[in-house]
Amino acid sequence: MMLQDPVTVLKGVGPKKAEALARLHIETLEDFIYLFPRDYQDRRILTAIGEMEENSTAAIIGRVERVVQNDYQRGRKQALRLYVSDGSGGTQILFFHARYLMKYFETGREYAFFGRITRGRTGLQMVHPDFCRAEEWEMGIFPVYPLTKGLTQKEIRAWQRAVSPLISDKEDYLSDDFKTRNRLVALPDAIRTMHNPGDRRSFQLARYRLIFDELFLLQIGLAAVRSRTGSRDGIAFSPGTEEEEYIRALEFPLTKAQRRAVNEIMADLEGPQVMNRLVQGDVGSGKTAVAEIALFKAVKSGYQAVMMAPTEILARQHYERFRTCFASKNIEVGFLSSGQKAAECRRIREALRDGIIQILVGTHAIIQPDVEFRRLGLVITDEQHRFGVDQRIRLREKGENPNVLVMTATPIPRTLAAVVYGDLDVSVIDEMPPGRKPVQTCALTAKDREKCYTFVEQELAAGHQAYVVTPLIDESETLDVRSAQEVADELAERFDGAHGHGRYTAALLHGAMKQEEKDRIMEDFAAGRIDLLVATVVIEVGINVPSATVMVIENAERFGLAQMHQLRGRVGRGGDQAWCFLISGSETETSRARCAIMQESSDGFCIAEEDLKLRGPGDLFGTRQHGLPMLMMADLIRHADILKHAGEEAKAILAEDPDLNEEEHRPLREKVEDLFGEGFTLEL
Ligand code: ADP
Ligand code: MG
Repeated sequence: MMLQDPVTVLKGVGPKKAEALARLHIETLEDFIYLFPRDYQDRRILTAIGEMEENSTAAIIGRVERVVQNDYQRGRKQALRLYVSDGSGGTQILFFHARYLMKYFETGREYAFFGRITRGRTGLQMVHPDFCRAEEWEMGIFPVYPLTKGLTQKEIRAWQRAVSPLISDKEDYLSDDFKTRNRLVALPDAIRTMHNPGDRRSFQLARYRLIFDELFLLQIGLAAVRSRTGSRDGIAFSPGTEEEEYIRALEFPLTKAQRRAVNEIMADLEGPQVMNRLVQGDVGSGKTAVAEIALFKAVKSGYQAVMMAPTEILARQHYERFRTCFASKNIEVGFLSSGQKAAECRRIREALRDGIIQILVGTHAIIQPDVEFRRLGLVITDEQHRFGVDQRIRLREKGENPNVLVMTATPIPRTLAAVVYGDLDVSVIDEMPPGRKPVQTCALTAKDREKCYTFVEQELAAGHQAYVVTPLIDESETLDVRSAQEVADELAERFDGAHGHGRYTAALLHGAMKQEEKDRIMEDFAAGRIDLLVATVVIEVGINVPSATVMVIENAERFGLAQMHQLRGRVGRGGDQAWCFLISGSETETSRARCAIMQESSDGFCIAEEDLKLRGPGDLFGTRQHGLPMLMMADLIRHADILKHAGEEAKAILAEDPDLNEEEHRPLREKVEDLFGEGFTLEL
């Protein structure tokens, strides 16, 4: 076997499994060794049943005394209940919808269980733990890999074991000198340790190496991107076009912060140098209006402009807004997305080439090679953290040195933004439009759920709308999480006239749905035809529904603080008081602290920093954070020190060997080209 081999060379990987693996972006054995565990199970210690502690995770071995299969009445779950004891005490193990396990567990035999301990009606219990016969039990630290439908943990572990001898073939693109200087372990060692951590120290060293790599490669790549932007001479837009009148005619006066951002952008646009500006502003701070003014200026200066948004829904919302605003100004606005009919696309592409469409709004469909502009002068990317570096570059390359504006609600401290975005200038919108009542945030537990939904009902009765967000679509491996489907069924029963006794319309929205279906539901919600929307995080980005006043987040412990903050930003966009309810499925110190932060602060920057403090550095079971798409392990905020250090090293290498042509840098060069996508070469 070789690293370049397809996964199908593995025993047990046929077309079905290969398809499932492809969903995890795994096609070759090399991809496989980079599939790192998302967590580890520490099975080095066995806990006596009598000493089990609520809310901890533990391994126990006990004799099955009794097996009971409960068939509940309608709507309740069918459960298999094991009574297990080990001399120090007894406990119950629960499995839902698992009648098939009855055959597996024999009364009088010993089994090992590993899982989270929770409190049930009759005492401590484990729900859906991992299990095996006692004699099969192995001690150690076990990797937990990300899964997708059709794959099991057992399979992935077995395949990882099969592939692991190949890890030694992995070429290290850093020289020995470089590694010694930066106290980095060898790449194959780091990879091997991630799959099989051994002790804490070697795990930390391995993780450090991989985080360093990501941040180092990122900065080498960005340096190349920057130099590729080429000459700093750009298009100068005409001074004093009618934008001041346009601003005066807006339905609201700009906030001071918006005004400042607009002034900075106008100065950039009128200057001879190309604009490269990042606008950072919390959710709801009014970034769209700022973009709109820039678009207006581009058109009035005789250029075309384009705005790219990460989702169809968001793109369409921008499109509707711009089309209405610009209609009276005789500005032609077009829309392009992958969901459109071929004929429609063709018409739009032609109109663009002829310069008839002056402003194009769309999803990433607009970076397709056959989308050409006549005279592109301004490129805007909304929620830019959702796009890859190469996507941004490809959009930019549709014009000749067009001005570039990127907008983000992800709070990145100014100093960090300077590293990540290099020579990007930054405008911060640090003020909310007036009259916005801060969203009232309440932390709740499962026993308050009833009260919470009574409140939701009152809001619906008042003609408002509500979101309920859950972390997962389907029943999951951990059954203490309420799935979107489950919540949706329950709420439909309660609120929806078509399904139950209620008077409202409820709908479910999740990421696995077809694009058209998602769009239809979102449109219905925005138009008020749906009152209650149960959703997974697909609604996180940017959409605006002013009469939505309630955001309920189920299993709040499963969400990042920044993510919850984004979600909360979806409500309170109209004049009415808005509410956010965080329902926690677990009552730990951390989850209480997290809720407290959400209650106290409505400032995205502050929340991001508190999040960082809470998570702390170097935790063995640390969560992955996704910022830039290529960052799997590194977190720009948490690993700020490594970022800085790696940045200095990147600079030093490029100063010495700008094209990475020297023999010892060749592997590094290949790696960078590989990461930054096809056709991406270092041209310095
Ligand atoms: P975001 O920064 O999250 O993209 P939006 O641009 O979507 O925020 O703006 C959120 C809402 O605030 C919109 O309904 C918009 O019309 C409104 N808004 C923006 N600027 C102002 C302002 N200066 N005064 C009042 N409302 C504003
Ligand atoms: Mg926005």
